[in-house]
Amino acid sequence: MKQKLPPALNRKAWLYAWLIVLMMFLVGAGSILLMNCWPRQVQLPGVSPELTATARGLDDICIDADFDPDSQRLTFTQTLKVTNRTGQDQSAVVLRSWSGAYLLEETSPCTSDELYSDCYPGGFSSGGLAVDSAEVNGVSVTPAFTDDASTVLRIPADWPVNDTVTVTLRCTVAIPDCAGRFGHADGIYMLGNVFPVPAVWQDGAWRTDAYVSVGDPFLSECANWHVTLRAPKSCTVAASAADVSDRKGVHVYEGLALRDFALVIGQDLTAVQAMAEGVLITACARDKTDAEAMLLYATRAMQTYARRWGAYPYPTFTLAEAVFPYGGMEYPGLVMIGDDVLHSAPQVLEYTVAHETAHQWWAVTVGSDGFYQAWQDEALCEYAWLDYVGDWEGAADREQMAFDRIETALRITIPGGVTPGSPIDYFSDLTQYSRVVYQRGAALWCALEIHLGKDGLDALLRDYYDQYAFRIATREELTALISRHAGMDMSALLLDYLDTLMY
Ligand SMILES: [Zn+2]
Repeated sequence: MKQKLPPALNRKAWLYAWLIVLMMFLVGAGSILLMNCWPRQVQLPGVSPELTATARGLDDICIDADFDPDSQRLTFTQTLKVTNRTGQDQSAVVLRSWSGAYLLEETSPCTSDELYSDCYPGGFSSGGLAVDSAEVNGVSVTPAFTDDASTVLRIPADWPVNDTVTVTLRCTVAIPDCAGRFGHADGIYMLGNVFPVPAVWQDGAWRTDAYVSVGDPFLSECANWHVTLRAPKSCTVAASAADVSDRKGVHVYEGLALRDFALVIGQDLTAVQAMAEGVLITACARDKTDAEAMLLYATRAMQTYARRWGAYPYPTFTLAEAVFPYGGMEYPGLVMIGDDVLHSAPQVLEYTVAHETAHQWWAVTVGSDGFYQAWQDEALCEYAWLDYVGDWEGAADREQMAFDRIETALRITIPGGVTPGSPIDYFSDLTQYSRVVYQRGAALWCALEIHLGKDGLDALLRDYYDQYAFRIATREELTALISRHAGMDMSALLLDYLDTLMY
């Protein structure tokens, strides 16, 4: 039986009920607003205690960015919390803003004779970084580029030794129609070296190397990157770290101890994933078959290298199709693979993926001087290919590969007097560079393999990785380490292989 309430009581009950509903709504709306105003406390996927420990005490770089494919622009606010570790008081914070070089035809790294037609098929297209405003500790300052290529950004700051300052930049990046590390081509946006990074202080000065056409002139220390990127929901975004956002069109990355943060954005990319050695590997390409091929080779490379040298330090590793003539290009946690490589013989793709994956150990985790000692990472990644082939195709193929790529390169006469130890601006083109620095340079590691034995060389590389992870290893430090493992001074052998013309 249903009991009927008196009319007055009935009205009062309804009023209370409405008040309760209204209060619940306000509390709910308030908490949603709070969630949007405050950074979310996200449990990072699979971050190792070692990486968390390394991240403590590093500089912090926050990016809040919007990507608009219609205007081909990336606008962002970048906040850098940087500590003066130079050992002396500074009057400025100096950043490297590599994308600035693409503003002018004279300074773009893609306008050399061998690259121009591939990178700018429709003629030169200008793009790069413009700094709209800058603040240091909340006070407005006027930054200035100190080089013609706009790659050295000086931000005046009273910056005593060991002091931490907060630099806030508001920037607009125009993305050029350029098939390069930085640019747009065929619906893919390659965003390498887009965000300014703190310059490296060395021997009493900031490193301000030019953005040359041959080689990778980038040098930077590890920092913690906190990146939020808004992009159209139709875009697939490949990045240097794991996306921890659950909102479509908003990407949130927490990249600990990274030397740089790169992105590849495309509207027609398909992503495939697999786990290997506890790492989530993602491969993105326009064609799913290409993504699957990259994924297979990257999975194999991850197994070979992690078991030989030590665990890959980051929770994710991503490969993305790019449109450029470089074959592949490494960034922390992300590599770009050229579409021409995807469509060449399978072994060309397999080699490129194996080489770029090896860079995650040599260049990305263990830093080295890519301008003056390019062999230090490149020759080692070339040598790593032999280990990959040995593991997946057998000892006979490994031997054949060593002959085809390394022995043969030693027999070719190289004009121009360049050696593996030459600075990258000594090289005239990419073919000469890869033959000398990669292949002839790898002969050093083959010689060390004979001298130390394969197990001895692997132990040396594990030690190198252990000692110099997240640091920059100098040639002198590596030479000393090699000598220690060999039980004798090996500097003459390095001089022979790296600095003399052997044939
Ligand atoms: Zn390389």
